[in-house]
Amino acid sequence: IPVEPFDLVVFGGTGDLAQRKILPALFRRFCGGQWPEDVLVLGAARKKLDDDGYRALVAGWLKEHAPDRSADCAALDRFLSRVGYVPVEAQGDEGWPELAARLSRDRVRAFYFSVGPRLFGALAERIEAHGMASDKTRIVVEKPFGHDLESARALNATLAGHFRERQIYRIDHYLGKETVQNLMAVRFGNMLFEPLWNSQYVDHIQITVAETVGVDGRESYYDRAGAMRDMVQNHLMQLLCLIAMEPPAKFDPDAVRDEKLKVIRALDPVLPHHIVRGQYVGVDGQPGYREVVGNPRSSTESYIALRAHISNWRWAGTPFYLRTGKRLVARSSVINVMFKDAPHSIFGADAGRHANVLSIRLQPNEGITLKVTIKEPGQGGMRLVDVPLDMSFAEALGPENQVSPDAYERLIMDVVRGNQTLFMRGDEVEAAWAWTDPIIAGWESSGDVPKPYDCGSTGPGDAELLMKRDGRNWQGIK
Ligand code: NAD
Repeated sequence: IPVEPFDLVVFGGTGDLAQRKILPALFRRFCGGQWPEDVLVLGAARKKLDDDGYRALVAGWLKEHAPDRSADCAALDRFLSRVGYVPVEAQGDEGWPELAARLSRDRVRAFYFSVGPRLFGALAERIEAHGMASDKTRIVVEKPFGHDLESARALNATLAGHFRERQIYRIDHYLGKETVQNLMAVRFGNMLFEPLWNSQYVDHIQITVAETVGVDGRESYYDRAGAMRDMVQNHLMQLLCLIAMEPPAKFDPDAVRDEKLKVIRALDPVLPHHIVRGQYVGVDGQPGYREVVGNPRSSTESYIALRAHISNWRWAGTPFYLRTGKRLVARSSVINVMFKDAPHSIFGADAGRHANVLSIRLQPNEGITLKVTIKEPGQGGMRLVDVPLDMSFAEALGPENQVSPDAYERLIMDVVRGNQTLFMRGDEVEAAWAWTDPIIAGWESSGDVPKPYDCGSTGPGDAELLMKRDGRNWQGIK
């Protein structure tokens, strides 16, 4: 669906995120025909560049990060003709009048804060001071949104000093993934699942975000953050909310976010013996976490597994197991809804125990599968076997739907449309910090040291024990 004309300013327009994600996403939407003719994208950062200098940089980034689309030179040129650049100092006066002069009046204006959070206040203040804030102005802010509850509150208060909540778009790119939205469609668009979506039929839920990459390139940030702040407080928490929330009355931003907030507020504090922290060590000459961050005594976790409980009518008694880690054996983000066994097997003990599993894969190969039990074909007697029922939409809806749009494409267009459904509200972010802060404070006060695990493994053995103690197992990462 085409959007109305807009101006988009990317603060930090020469940075890593702009290069790899924001500009390629804009370009893909442009190629997808979603833009009206009249759009302006302005990079704004410290580097001294003019429009042509920036366009040459952008062309290089698009060739690298959107090679399929940028092969079409005519499309690339048309896109670049809508791109410009203004050198701006976020904390000073330089560039602001020039920036203000380039923007159109009376149309949607989005400012993407692709800079560190310490600059959010300076940017918000100057946007307002230079007359660039109107009713149609929106700001997009990246993670990390705070370091703890106190800093998140301070950031929210700073932004609220210049913009209303409905103008603030806090990005969690996990929410822009096609499968995450599909999860809501599967849950709330079908009769089939929702009646079973509770502690009576669901044994437990596993949420895994496994990465093969380490912390290279983000060492100093990561060593202050760790997996709890970097992944659990935001991405895993958002996935947990979408799985656990009550059906909102409608698919509108506040209805959805109200329900997510209720989930976070219903989370019990996590007991220390329900958490495993890990830190990777090098094998075969590869550097371990401490070598990479250059801190031989670091007690920051690069892995975490925990068991969470939601104290409400729907989920009491159903554990949610969350795990995430770096330098693991495979890259895989998946939510597994593990249903209970059938109450009685009419096929006898040797037919095995079988339970349905709904797997929602975010990456790689986004898609949803339901494991169902059928008769093993051709065998004498009644032997059972599990087969996946593939609900990936690509096959059913045709080859043009095989490639899901990148999360950033969807989210940036939602900003232009003014749709906040897939963005975090300030109170959600604060509630999530209120849940993680005591856990982190507990480690700090006890001097907890993470368990070592080998690069390329599935994580520390204690994470397996966390499950085994409950008579359960993690689904494989690969
Ligand atoms: P980066 O260091 O690569 O780029 C920072 C950008 O900010 C540069 O364009 C720089 O010129 C500009 N900048 C810095 N100080 C400035 C100032 N005083 N005035 C004007 N411009 C200034 O950072 P990045 O990796 O692109 O990350 C940007 C933001 O996005 C950060 O908040 C980061 O935490 C977040 N983020 C990044 C990624 C990623 O994959 N890179 C992922 C998630 C979130």
